[in-house]
Amino acid sequence: MVDVHLRGIVKRFGKTIAVDGIDLDVMDGEFIVLLGPSGCGKTTTLRVIAGLEKPDAGRVLFGDKDVTYLPPKDRNVSMVFQSYAIWPHMKVYDNIAFPLKIRKVPRDEIDRRVKWAAELLQISELLDRYPHQLSGGQRQRVAVARAIVVEPDVLLMDEPLSNLDALLRVKMRSELKKLQRKIKVTTIYVTHDQVEAMTMGDRIAVMNKGRIQQVGTPEEIYLKPRNLFVAGFVGTPQMNFFKARIKVSENNIVLVSDDFEIRLGSRYVDELLGYDGKEVIVGIRPEHIYLEKLVPPTVTEKEVIEGKVDFVEALGSDTIIHVSTGKNILVVKVSGSHHYRIGSNIRIVLDLNHIHLFDKDTEYSILKR
Ligand code: ATP
Repeated sequence: MVDVHLRGIVKRFGKTIAVDGIDLDVMDGEFIVLLGPSGCGKTTTLRVIAGLEKPDAGRVLFGDKDVTYLPPKDRNVSMVFQSYAIWPHMKVYDNIAFPLKIRKVPRDEIDRRVKWAAELLQISELLDRYPHQLSGGQRQRVAVARAIVVEPDVLLMDEPLSNLDALLRVKMRSELKKLQRKIKVTTIYVTHDQVEAMTMGDRIAVMNKGRIQQVGTPEEIYLKPRNLFVAGFVGTPQMNFFKARIKVSENNIVLVSDDFEIRLGSRYVDELLGYDGKEVIVGIRPEHIYLEKLVPPTVTEKEVIEGKVDFVEALGSDTIIHVSTGKNILVVKVSGSHHYRIGSNIRIVLDLNHIHLFDKDTEYSILKR
């Protein structure tokens, strides 16, 4: 096991800058997720760590050792891909044993390790089958068993669950996480699925356009997004955003939007002093807006807003209500079933302890939390 450090990694493909100066520290035994939209450079970053791509600038360190120019075979890393990439002509046993055979590990040691990996992945009874006799989920388990059988220092996984159906994906998520905890291998996991990232990662590195936007625990990423991109990328339904002008008067801050005003009181006077008269982007998550009749007592700082029901999504356990406040639509998520006629009047309550403000130019979060 080892800690991994990326220092100023840049990777270009012709004119495309796939990775644009990435710094990242992954602790020994940590499960870190690279999360971001398609094309943001996640896979390229992973391939640089694996040694499958040479960076144009920057260094990759495993512990104190600079491995930037070491070939993959000398790094003791294993990689699991979205396509399982297991050999169709080999039985499961031989697929898992394969990386050990190339390393010329003695036969009885191979046998011991294959059985260990198969047991961990709960595929011991499948060792005698060929891949075409397996389900997608079982094939993916074989690929993971083959990756861990070499006892790698670093395990790299690139969207390993995206070929599986939704139910199996949820099951494999928790199994992979438990497996990683058990064998404590430093793991870097790539996905564009925010739920996967939130449920599996000890920490998440959110990426966009070749750059890391924020690194933090799932809770930090969710509650304290550093910028507009992170705020909008993590969370379903997405955070509500609307523009508002800031009015600072003595000991009172008011956010004046097209449709309503929000009185923030004096709490953020220091942070917002320089913003008097400026327009900012306000963010609030759907679960931090309540129906007026159902505001929990914990919500102490609030603003009531009137609107009309524009659309309702009944999900069974939750109801998503789209509320038109005039020019803006606010999406509200409440638990349980609620019935509303489209066009009917509704009063909703914003929890002001969960308001986010973003600078319109830099898109950085303004409030320090
Ligand atoms: P996805 O989730 O779709 O796999 P990603 O975040 O993993 O996306 P990368 O695969 O790292 O993104 O790609 C980053 C950028 O680099 C993209 O614009 C992609 O088209 C480009 N790119 C990646 N590999 C190559 C290559 N071998 N040659 C040319 N361009 C490449």
